[in-house]
Amino acid sequence: MSEDFYDILGVSRDASEEEIQEAYRKKAREYHPDVSDDPDAEEKFKQVKKAKEVLTDEEKRRAYDQMGHERFEQAEKRGGFDGGGGRGGRGDPFGGGFNMEDIFDQFFGGGRRRRRDSNRPRQGQDLKTTLEIDLEEAYEGAEKQVTIRRPETCPDCSGNGHPPDADSQTCPECNGRGQVTQVQQTPMGRVQQTTTCRRCGGEGTLYEETCSTCGGDGVVRNEATLTVEIPAGIQDGQTLRMEREGAPGENGGPNGDLLIDVSIRDHPEFERDGDDLNRREPISFPQAVFGDTIEVPTLDGDIEFEIPSGTQSGETFRLEGKGMPHLRRRGHGDLYVTVQVYTPEELNSEQREALEAFAEASDEEISVDEGFFEKLKNSI
Ligand SMILES: [Zn+2]
Ligand SMILES: [Zn+2]
Repeated sequence: MSEDFYDILGVSRDASEEEIQEAYRKKAREYHPDVSDDPDAEEKFKQVKKAKEVLTDEEKRRAYDQMGHERFEQAEKRGGFDGGGGRGGRGDPFGGGFNMEDIFDQFFGGGRRRRRDSNRPRQGQDLKTTLEIDLEEAYEGAEKQVTIRRPETCPDCSGNGHPPDADSQTCPECNGRGQVTQVQQTPMGRVQQTTTCRRCGGEGTLYEETCSTCGGDGVVRNEATLTVEIPAGIQDGQTLRMEREGAPGENGGPNGDLLIDVSIRDHPEFERDGDDLNRREPISFPQAVFGDTIEVPTLDGDIEFEIPSGTQSGETFRLEGKGMPHLRRRGHGDLYVTVQVYTPEELNSEQREALEAFAEASDEEISVDEGFFEKLKNSI
């Protein structure tokens, strides 16, 4: 494909704006990435769009004609024009209405406001929603449903905002051009500004009737229920993107995306730290002293764990690979089990005697508080 904007659209250098618009519509349909099989469709589509943007804007087209393709592109990359072809004919410092916001929109898709201010295809807005899941679901991965209210192209007017058979007339404000040019005298010189026609919203046509279903917006809000794949190992606060499930595009542009912020509910038994899990496990004094084999719950079912003899309260053991799965790669984090030696708050007489004997055998003298004996009596 040629680099020259006229060649890209296949029009002559003195083509009228209508001819350019017409050529653009044809090319845009041909190369629209949603319909074209051409592997380079997206790139070509962008070029076509760009060519039309420049050539349908009086000021930009004049600059383009003066500077030629290469210098125009360079000037644009620098973010504006400086001197306009060296002929000194461009007296105003504002670059003749070549508006930075426009350039920005064009390159970074910033033009996502819902305004029918041109015929160029626009991507629809991204939509956002939230989803709360359990730790178990984050562990296993899950399929969840989300219900959103999503703007959709009005079915009764196909998004045009007026009934198909509505009477129409050419917009008298802009004479059908969709744009109006204002010239202002400022202390810096003459400034010419081209803006979208407010009366017709850039369409160039006025319709006698508005669509009663959407009130002329071209958009209705419908409830949509979608199935979301939650990947195993997802983190709290992570955002999932469902491509093309957002608001509809305009003028044949693609839909926006749906962004889902996922939060994970606190779990009563496990605390998550990245891909590791922490858990507290109560054990008795004799278990700590003699050691024991206990059942420890994991998110993958109970496992047997051997407590070594002489374990201290507060000691932490690592169970390798028993934590959360790593997101989109193999393996798991670890499970850290912190044991806590459980101190009985009440004793029966047998237990008391055994403990007293234990203290005596350890040469310990214990002055027991009266309240404790009261408690003991009550529990016997
Ligand atoms: Zn108008
Ligand atoms: Zn409608």
